[in-house]
Amino acid sequence: MARIYNFSAGPSMLPEAVLLKAQQEMLDWQDSGMSVLEMSHRGKYFMAIAEAMKNDLIELLSIPENYKVLFLQGGATAQFAMIPQNILNGKSSACYVNTGAWSTSAIKEAGKYCEVKIAASSEDTAYTSIPKAEQWLLDQDAAYLHYTSNETIHGVEFNHVPEVGNLPLVCDMSSNILSRTVDINRFGIIYAGTQKNMGPAGVTVVIVREDLIGLAPKSVPSVFNYAQQAKSDSMLNTPATYNWYLLGLVLQWLKGEGGVAAIEQRNIQKAGKLYQAIDQSSLYSNPVALECRSRMNIPFVLADASLDKEFLSLAEKNGLSTLAGHRSVGGMRASIYNAMPEAGVDALIAFMAEFERTH
Ligand code: PMP
Repeated sequence: MARIYNFSAGPSMLPEAVLLKAQQEMLDWQDSGMSVLEMSHRGKYFMAIAEAMKNDLIELLSIPENYKVLFLQGGATAQFAMIPQNILNGKSSACYVNTGAWSTSAIKEAGKYCEVKIAASSEDTAYTSIPKAEQWLLDQDAAYLHYTSNETIHGVEFNHVPEVGNLPLVCDMSSNILSRTVDINRFGIIYAGTQKNMGPAGVTVVIVREDLIGLAPKSVPSVFNYAQQAKSDSMLNTPATYNWYLLGLVLQWLKGEGGVAAIEQRNIQKAGKLYQAIDQSSLYSNPVALECRSRMNIPFVLADASLDKEFLSLAEKNGLSTLAGHRSVGGMRASIYNAMPEAGVDALIAFMAEFERTH
């Protein structure tokens, strides 16, 4: 068996130790005589798995007591709608910062429920920058401000948490949660799909400050209602049990690696190397402003786009998979989440250098 280095933006690589543990426990989870796949979500075994998983997430992110942690379905995409549905609280508008494709999707969905006020946009730079804080238009009468901490497609990441006055700060952290330390107290809501840094696809982590729970009008469907989900421990409907279990294994792995601060140092190291290789080359380039280059998703283009196909097929032959950029932007993209070993980044850099030498 030869495992490749998979640079997919998500679903993406999982730690090998996690896959091996899941394999080992597949038929008989800890002498229960059954697979996690077969367990009742209300039974004692699964309840123990769920509780440990939630506590590990609380510990890893230092989530304060005045927040509820929900594990929902429908992806980050469902949150695009659930956020305005749950926290407009009678207000007619919400502020959004547009830094790329995922912000744009969130804005489009929110527009079904309220007036969206664009606080700032980097569309004029083709989403290669983040508008300066002093240019943001913050309407303190809006219900909240939403931003995307890492734009997965454009490779643009906030290196700070924005100051937004008294507005509840709502963040789509899908592609950089658990990759860097962050002060949860600064946020009203953080949400993230699991399929990048936390496990397989199928679960969305939603961290909601308590004062934002219970504001939804009665017309909001029960499964979309934060208060009802919080009250039932995210088991209003049958949860994605096996995905919760795998998420738990990833969190245990991360604790074993030294937690978020330790993995952040590795992420800085991995991304730093790859950007250095790109910047030093005359074949590859990355268009993103230095201060907001993503540590997780690193897009790059070849000076001669006619070499793209050959680059991708040779990379694939060398065990470096899924390096094509998103179909909307083209070029290449290396997604190097927590589970991508440094050796994978080294292998990519070596391959890129060799390709440049021979082309
Ligand atoms: N937001 C961001 C930043 C993403 O990267 C993605 C998925 N790539 C989404 C939202 C949408 O997530 P999902 O497909 O889980 O709904």
